[in-house]
Amino acid sequence: MAEHAEGADRLRTVDEHLAAVLDGVGTVDPIELTLLDAQGLLLAEDIRADFPLPSFDNSAMDGYAVRARDTEHASTEQPAQLRVVGDVAAGAKARSGMGPGLAMRIMTGAPVPAGADAVIPLEDTDRGLARVAVHREVHTGECVRRAGEDLASGAPALGAGAALGPQQLGLLAAIGRDRVLVRPRPRVIILSTGSELIEVGHTPSFGEVIDSNSYMLTSAARDAGADARRIGIVADDHAALLDTLESQLLRADVLVTTGGVSMGAFDVVKEALSELGTVEFTRVAMQPGKPQGFGHLGDKVPIFCLPGNPVSSLVSFEAFVRPAIRKLLGKRSLQRATVQAVALDGATSPKGIRQYRRGVLHREAAGGYSVSLSGGPGSHLLAALALSNCLVVIDEDDTEISAGAEVTVIPLLLSNR
Ligand code: AMP
Ligand code: MG
Repeated sequence: MAEHAEGADRLRTVDEHLAAVLDGVGTVDPIELTLLDAQGLLLAEDIRADFPLPSFDNSAMDGYAVRARDTEHASTEQPAQLRVVGDVAAGAKARSGMGPGLAMRIMTGAPVPAGADAVIPLEDTDRGLARVAVHREVHTGECVRRAGEDLASGAPALGAGAALGPQQLGLLAAIGRDRVLVRPRPRVIILSTGSELIEVGHTPSFGEVIDSNSYMLTSAARDAGADARRIGIVADDHAALLDTLESQLLRADVLVTTGGVSMGAFDVVKEALSELGTVEFTRVAMQPGKPQGFGHLGDKVPIFCLPGNPVSSLVSFEAFVRPAIRKLLGKRSLQRATVQAVALDGATSPKGIRQYRRGVLHREAAGGYSVSLSGGPGSHLLAALALSNCLVVIDEDDTEISAGAEVTVIPLLLSNR
C-alpha cells in the first residue's frame, strides 16, 4: 500500500494531526460569571479573602458560653455552678457580654459573648435554665471557632487555574464572591452536510438518511465542556455551505462539520473550503477517520471538517475536537485517561494505522478490566456504537490483538457536568 510508505504520500499520524490541531487553538478569553454559571470552569484570577472566615468568634456546639477559669476542678460530683444570664442564638446582631461566674446559653454558630472564652457542650452540663451545673473542666478556647482560623483577612483562597466544583463554589460564596473571572465554555457550532440528510422526526424515503451526527457531536461537545449548538443540515452545495458557515462565524469559538471530506465527486466541504486556503485537508493514519480537515475561518475561528460516517465522526471528535475544547477551556490535561484491559476478542488492524474499535469494558470481580468488542470495524455501525462504553486502541505498530492479550482502552465516561 503506497500510501503507508514514507514520502510525499505518507499519512499524517494521529499524534501529528493532534499536535497541528492544538497548535491552531488557543484558550477562550476570561469573562465574569455568577457562581452557578461558573460550575465546572477554571478560575482565571487569584482570589483572596476580603474578610476573615469565620468573620467572628462563634460557638462550635450547642451549650453554654463560660469563662474557662470558672470551671477549674469541676466534675460530675462537684460541678461548677454558674448563673445563666441569657441566650445567644445564631444571627444575634450584637455581641453580648457577661461577667465572671456567669454563663450564657449559646447555639451553634452564635457569636461568643465578650467575657466568655470557651463553650461547654450541653451534654456536659445539667442543662439548667436559671443556673447551670458544669460537670467538667473546660479549656480556654474549647468549642470556639476563632475568627480567621479558616482564612485570615487577605489570605489567598483560590488560585487562577482552580477548577470550580462544589467545594470551591462553596468557599467563594462563603467569602462573599458572587461573580468570578473564569474561562467560559467555548461556543461550538455543529453542522451536518449531505444532500441525503433529513431532519429527525421524519420517516426517510428511499435514499434519505436521518442526520444523527449532529445530535451525537453536539452532545459530545457539551460533555467535553462546550456550549454547543446544533445548526442542522446543509446540502452538498458550495454556496449554501459557505453562507451557513459565514453566518455562524461571529457566534462561534469552534465550527465542526461532518461529511463531504473524502474523495467523492460531491465532497463539497473539501472542495469549497480548500479554495479558501485556510483549511487543510489531510489523510490521517487512523481507522475510522482517515480524511480530516482542519483550519481557520474568519477571524481565526478553528474549524474541524470531520468525515460523515457516524462512527468516524465520533472517533474523530474524540481524537481531535475534544482535546481542542479542553484546551480552549484552559484545562491542563487534554486527553482522556486510558486503562489496560484483557481483550476477550481478537482483531486485526493494518500496519501503520491506529485503529479505534468500539468495546464494552467490564470491571473484573478479581480486579482489573476486560474488554469485548462491540460490532465489527464498519464505521456505519451505530447500534454497536450505542452498546459500547469505550474505544479499544490498536496502535500503529500492532497488526492484531489476540484474545487474552492486554490492550489499551479509552473509557468514554460521561462527565455529568
Ligand atoms: P460522507 O463523509 O459525506 O461521504 O458520508 C459518509 C457516509 O456517512 C454516508 O453514508 C452518509 O450518508 C453518512 N452520513 C453523512 N453525514 C451523516 C449524518 N449527519 N448523519 C448520519 N449519517 C451521515
Ligand atoms: Mg456526504
